[in-house]
Amino acid sequence: MSRSRPRPSLYALLGDPIAHSLSPRIQNAALRSAGLDASYVALRTDSERLEAVMRSHAGGNVTLPHKTAAAGALDRSSTGVLATRACNTFWWDADYGLCGDNTDIEAFRLAAEHLLHSDLTGRKVLLLGAGGVARAVTHACVTAGVAQLQILNRTLRHARSLLADLGDPRTAEALANEDDLSGPYDLIVNATSLGLSSSDPLPIDPARLEAGAVLDLVYGADETSFVLACRKAGLPAVDGRRMLVEQAALAFEHWFAFGAPREVMGSAAGLPDAD
Ligand code: NAP
Repeated sequence: MSRSRPRPSLYALLGDPIAHSLSPRIQNAALRSAGLDASYVALRTDSERLEAVMRSHAGGNVTLPHKTAAAGALDRSSTGVLATRACNTFWWDADYGLCGDNTDIEAFRLAAEHLLHSDLTGRKVLLLGAGGVARAVTHACVTAGVAQLQILNRTLRHARSLLADLGDPRTAEALANEDDLSGPYDLIVNATSLGLSSSDPLPIDPARLEAGAVLDLVYGADETSFVLACRKAGLPAVDGRRMLVEQAALAFEHWFAFGAPREVMGSAAGLPDAD
């Protein structure tokens, strides 16, 4: 691949589908607020063109279904990319070429700490799902020193292979089915894709859950049906917008090397002012 310099002021979100994403709104609000002459666009991209499109932009984000392929396209990977085999943020560096990080890891940790009002160390966590973002959540939980992480996924072998890829951490296990739940949990995380569509079933019946807090990584224009159902069952719950804003702010800081305007980004994502 060529190492010629890409267009300097053009940033993009690459994925398919991308129409529902709040990232362009968040990043363009940040660019305007910082007075930068740059723009961020959502580009529906197929896997054949992914690497070429990454190399023709100064930086950007990658979402479903390309995070693994993006990791494979990098000249230089962060430790988070190497651990999770997934890249959600990339940028061009004159010395190193195409660089990438997985800002979902740190963004999840920050969103979980905000919800719990403390860190994840010593906590008992239930993770629903074993796809791309579940890898970032697992890596964040294990490196933060959770006491126990249980993973429940529709396809058990996907949960087992996720754990094997992450070195079978001592504190983590895959559950065969809902009968193996052993709450109460300090935190339950929905990392399935259920909730993206309004016709989706809930990832699990909240009546089965005992938890201090629920973090649904899914987000939409309104509160997700899982968040509403959890609150109705008496469980404190928030959706994925805070994590989205944190991963966006960390990406911005990779691209521009100064602090991201988090408040502006939060209000572009619809987070309450005082939240
Ligand atoms: P992914 O790799 O496609 O994984 C999807 C997961 O959902 C898998 O565990 C899959 O189970 C499960 N699933 C799908 N359909 C299901 C069904 N009908 N019943 C039960 N389980 C089902 O997706 P991802 O990249 O991890 O993303 C997951 C969600 O997180 C998406 O909604 C995404 O928008 C959101 N997300 C949010 C943020 C944020 O910043 N808030 C960041 C990243 C992702 P199987 O293994 O059985 O297929």
